[in-house]
Amino acid sequence: MNIYIFLKTRFTLISLLILANLAIGIAQPPPRKVQKVPKNVIIMISDGCGINHIRATNLYQFGQYSGQKYESFPVKLFMSTYPAKSEVGNLLMYSRGYSTYNAWNDFKYVLSDFTCSAASGTALATGEKTYNGAIGVDINGSPLKNLSELAIEKNKSAGVVTSVQISHATPATFVAHNKSRNKYSEIAKNMLINSKLSVIMGCGHPYYDNNGKELSKANTFNYIGDSLIWNDLLNNSTTLNGKQVQDISFDGIPDKWNLIQDKNDFIALANGENLPDRVIGIAKVAQTLQQEKDLNTYNYYLNSKITKSEDPNELIKNRISSVPDLDIMAEGALNVLNKNPNGFFLMIEGGAIDWAAHSNQTARMIAEEIYFNNAVDKVIEWIEQNSSWEETLLIVTADHETGYITAPYNGNENIDWELIPQSPKGTLPNIQWNSMDHTNSLVPFFAKGICSEYLNFFADEIDIKRGKYINNTEPAQLLFLLWR
Ligand SMILES: [Zn+2]
Repeated sequence: MNIYIFLKTRFTLISLLILANLAIGIAQPPPRKVQKVPKNVIIMISDGCGINHIRATNLYQFGQYSGQKYESFPVKLFMSTYPAKSEVGNLLMYSRGYSTYNAWNDFKYVLSDFTCSAASGTALATGEKTYNGAIGVDINGSPLKNLSELAIEKNKSAGVVTSVQISHATPATFVAHNKSRNKYSEIAKNMLINSKLSVIMGCGHPYYDNNGKELSKANTFNYIGDSLIWNDLLNNSTTLNGKQVQDISFDGIPDKWNLIQDKNDFIALANGENLPDRVIGIAKVAQTLQQEKDLNTYNYYLNSKITKSEDPNELIKNRISSVPDLDIMAEGALNVLNKNPNGFFLMIEGGAIDWAAHSNQTARMIAEEIYFNNAVDKVIEWIEQNSSWEETLLIVTADHETGYITAPYNGNENIDWELIPQSPKGTLPNIQWNSMDHTNSLVPFFAKGICSEYLNFFADEIDIKRGKYINNTEPAQLLFLLWR
């Protein structure tokens, strides 16, 4: 969608209002229609989730293709995710975009020229395409303003919540600016020292492993900055490694982070007890809340070997009991952010759906989707109890597809490889993984609440199978217009 048409329409309306004012005279101004804009915006990102991830989860949970509450949101679209530049061999080359013709006439088309979570996160957070690996910077490496920074400019609060490390690509793009997603320590310092966020929650605890077991010696401090920062956080200091944290209450006094680690402290926030102004929540686990349990071999491009067959419900039943679930973290974050009467921006990520998909772990992918879906349900409930759809906008989407899930296909052109086959509730669906990496496939996009209908206006491109779709830069572009 060309944003200038949108702007022009707005400006024309404003000009007409001014003309109307002049015609009537100063004494009798016409009643001015107040432009309603969202007080609160929540973006929920299921990292790596395509339509078949949702269908597979629904088949397992309900024995049918759909069933999630967000699937009946008033705005139901798809979204393209290609970056400005993606890898060709070892080089970053300008992307060829997304072609619906190629996507449905060449099975292999979506396997190349795809985004990484950093470029797609930056697009969702800033409204601008960039290169794979970029955290909140443009193709020249210059910082781009993100939605958290925009919200804070408007005297709102901002937060990020994730089921992976706090400084991992997706949460990082909504807070930090770095030329490389791999600079975890620099990114974490940027988030904790330079940002004015009120809430950061996720993983990356230095003293726990992927099973939530305490270590006698720290594994790595990279994901939370460095060892000095960790000690300063433990001591509730307003300086981290010698640098002062930001003032978020506009009184000129730096506001310290309140560090929480225990599951009970996350639950207390979810219950609305003793809400601090600023909270950094690091669950007592290394990389993911649950997905890496019993694996500890995670590497994006090395399959985590799972020898026995697994079941999502069993995985959930036997999950690490000492860490909070994503829905608890989300609810706590909402309660803290809601202290600001001006409203807030919050990004919540189901980050390990992507990790399970990279390793083609069907059961773990479904378990991670279920944790994410539970978090969406909790957010819906929170909005209806503590706010309303007249003041809050909720977006549920993905940053890209991972694993290229299709129906069992094997090159037989008579098979509809787009739609995975029906399967009974409680059994693993009959899917085929065609990649251990991301794809350029369109991803599902759902929205509900104030101004959500404007998103339909941006859906000006048509896919052969998916219908209308937006570009991943457009949700943020809309928010930059609404909160300008
Ligand atoms: Zn990924």
